[in-house]
Amino acid sequence: MARIAVNPPAVGWSLTIPPGLWSTLASHLFRDGEEHGAVILAGYADGPRGPRLLARDVILAEDGVGYVEGTTGYRALDATFVRDQALRARDENLAYLAVHNHDDMLYPGSVGFSPTDLASHERGYPALRQITGQLVGGLVVTPRAAAGDLWLPDGTRVALAETVVLGNNIIRLRPRPAETADADQHWHRQSLLFGSAGQLTFTRLRVAVVGLGGAGSIITELLTRLGVGELILIDDDRVDKTNLPRLVAAEPDDVGKRKIDLAARNARRANPAMRLTLIDKRVEHPDSRAALTTCDWIFLAADSHSARHWVNQVVHQYHIPATQLGVKIPVGVDGRIGDIHTATRILLPGAGCLWCDELINPTQLAIDMHPQGEREAAQYVPEVPAASVITLNTLAAGEAANHFMFAAVRLHHHNAEAASVLHQPQSRDRLLQTGRQSASCRFCTTTGDLGKGDDTLDGLVQREQKELTPNRLPI
Ligand SMILES: [Zn+2]
Ligand SMILES: [Zn+2]
Repeated sequence: MARIAVNPPAVGWSLTIPPGLWSTLASHLFRDGEEHGAVILAGYADGPRGPRLLARDVILAEDGVGYVEGTTGYRALDATFVRDQALRARDENLAYLAVHNHDDMLYPGSVGFSPTDLASHERGYPALRQITGQLVGGLVVTPRAAAGDLWLPDGTRVALAETVVLGNNIIRLRPRPAETADADQHWHRQSLLFGSAGQLTFTRLRVAVVGLGGAGSIITELLTRLGVGELILIDDDRVDKTNLPRLVAAEPDDVGKRKIDLAARNARRANPAMRLTLIDKRVEHPDSRAALTTCDWIFLAADSHSARHWVNQVVHQYHIPATQLGVKIPVGVDGRIGDIHTATRILLPGAGCLWCDELINPTQLAIDMHPQGEREAAQYVPEVPAASVITLNTLAAGEAANHFMFAAVRLHHHNAEAASVLHQPQSRDRLLQTGRQSASCRFCTTTGDLGKGDDTLDGLVQREQKELTPNRLPI
């Protein structure tokens, strides 16, 4: 298999499209080599390298009805179609993006607006921006490139730096292929597989690990050795003696220390230039939730129902992929051993939802959401320590980190399933499980929270001013 050219993450405004909406859009635009049109309505969010637009809905313009022969150009969106979508953008506080396709036969991997396109933006967008009070703009795409012209309500006009298509492979479409220098010799052996653009991709990514126990400790080690440039580590727990066999490089003296500090120590050993944010709070704390919304990827290695709920919420509301790792070693009070398995679940926006899969228990969630003192005072059944072994954590962590790695540098076969992986070490089985999807889910669907992001563009601007993300990458 030839390596596909990878674009490392770009700095600036980006648009993220979840897998379901992209397949709807792509099969409409690229079906016959002709030019077609659609509108994307998008939520707003802050991101690790700039503001993000989150595709929340795609409305296809039917040829001859919504997309018609224009008076000045080749084809254009019909005025009624534009009005209907613009009003929806206004009413739902969403960005409005008119999309059409070009072919890239002449300059493979590159795309740009034609003079006709730009003239129509200049004629139409000032009024549309005024009507909607939202960001409006145009997007032109090919299967390998995308360019966007964004008109902000404050009068500024900016170019879209990249369009991120989520799936088993993360595809970054740019106006033209990115140029990258050779990676440092330190990374030579893995650059042979990833290419220098792939290695640079890891350096630019911001990844969160929720839960720094057995599985989270190994994930952190793997991510840092892989070259991920920035980590957010979230856990409010401290090391006790029974944790020592499962924490990477832990020493007897570490008992009583914060688990995030142990993980941070390992991360710095692997990469002294690592950018680290340590949050010693539970995942439902607003600091943890705010930090999660600005990541490129989340590893969920904590097993509480509230951790599952909040990470799941961020996946769908903010279009941030996540991987959940779980290890089950059922040992009964009579010593009987049940079916041991490790699970690695891929959560992509609009696909792979822990609510739809009935993996969040509302009663447990309600209990988890109480402050610790209240949980104890209410005399909930105290948690019995479960069996835990480092080798099984390693199986789940390895599966999860490999999936992330292949996704980031587009090495998955294009038809690979975005399914959960279940290892059953006693029978040596490896099973793929496709997640369930409920059309009425209020978390992972377009009628629910999918791609909602922050409430408004104003909210995003306020967040920017509060400098929630001080660690912007230099361009
Ligand atoms: Zn065009
Ligand atoms: Zn759902």
